[in-house]
Amino acid sequence: MRFTEFNFHPQILEGIEASNYETATPVQEQVIPPILEGRDVIASAQTGTGKTAAFLLPVMNRLLTNHVDGQVGALIIVPTRELAIQISQHIEGLSYFTHLSSIAIYGGNDAQNFVAEKKALQMGADVIVCTPGRMIAHLNMGYVNMKGLRFLILDEADRMLDMGFQDDINKIIKALPAKRQNLLFSATMPEKIRQLAKRILHEPVEINIAISKPPEKIIQKAFLVYEPQKLPLIKKLLRETPYKNALIFCSRKQTVKQVRRELKQSGFNIEEIHSDLEQAQRESVLGSFASGRIPLLVATDILSRGIDIDTIDLVINWDVPGDGEDYVHRIGRTARAEADGAAFTLVGEKEQNKFAVIERLLEKEVEKAPVPKELGETPAYHPRSRSHGHSHSQGHGERPKRKFFKSSSRKR
Ligand code: AMP
Repeated sequence: MRFTEFNFHPQILEGIEASNYETATPVQEQVIPPILEGRDVIASAQTGTGKTAAFLLPVMNRLLTNHVDGQVGALIIVPTRELAIQISQHIEGLSYFTHLSSIAIYGGNDAQNFVAEKKALQMGADVIVCTPGRMIAHLNMGYVNMKGLRFLILDEADRMLDMGFQDDINKIIKALPAKRQNLLFSATMPEKIRQLAKRILHEPVEINIAISKPPEKIIQKAFLVYEPQKLPLIKKLLRETPYKNALIFCSRKQTVKQVRRELKQSGFNIEEIHSDLEQAQRESVLGSFASGRIPLLVATDILSRGIDIDTIDLVINWDVPGDGEDYVHRIGRTARAEADGAAFTLVGEKEQNKFAVIERLLEKEVEKAPVPKELGETPAYHPRSRSHGHSHSQGHGERPKRKFFKSSSRKR
């Protein structure tokens, strides 16, 4: 799903574009619409799923389209200062073209910051990200004004409870207006989170994005290439890697047809599967593949779920799949049952960001295997989404003037 389908404010869309996000991740697809509708949400989603933008974008959109000056609009409570800084950088990137103000409030920084924090809490800031302890310190001083608060977000709620912040959270919530929209994000959903949710959330929409991890025994490798190097590389990999059954995935059926044509011309015994084929044709091709008569198959993602052929010992991704879930499903076609398997991904220069998001999701850095020298120079690995936020140095226009207490950049 493309971001243009959410009906975001043009300034938010600009921030999305400048962050190099093209399509929404699954959690974003599910979480953004109910937040835009004003519903409370409880979502189980781990880091790496794009969960931060999933709540920031709709919240910022609503703050922007219905702006109130001089109030705290949204409060995001997080367990650690690292996460506070990270989220604050994320806000900085996504709100770059808006006039929304934000500040991160966390322990351990200097007195000057305390003054800026106090000012924001008294006079208002559109988005405040805080750790519980520091917020309590401000609350105890008596000047915090949360009268206009519209959004409360608890991020990594399970970690906050594990760290013993339950009482602090309760105390902070007592200082907030009763009528507000609540969002709770947690990697896991133990009973104590459900209890917390029951107390805080009002008829929440429940969203569960549990990403399965691929089996450890699959040997995963990525090859960083320029697009024209993919064909010679795949031929070489197919000639030099022993396999019984190999499956090549392409995101588009047009590419499936091209790859099959090219490989067939080079002498490979290969068939194709995609949505243009009748069910009977697909079954016949799959039968030949399963029996070993045709050892090589190229397919779209229609084959990434559900086929269970024990002899597939090699999966090659011609391109990087749209999201982590598709990647896990594609490579999970190999190493079924007792068998071993390898999964190679050809990462084009423009696909590096997408691949880095998948690596974050898997919490695993996939080995970048050397590309044979005869294929020439290859690109280095420089995905933008490895770090949070993005570079502003690419001529995206003048930076809008901000309220002076916008603080996230000084804490790098
Ligand atoms: P998170 O799960 O919020 O920690 O996000 C993980 C990484 O994915 C961050 O580096 C984000 O900048 C990046 N990211 C979030 N949404 C998208 C998207 N729709 N497309 C590409 N990258 C994204």
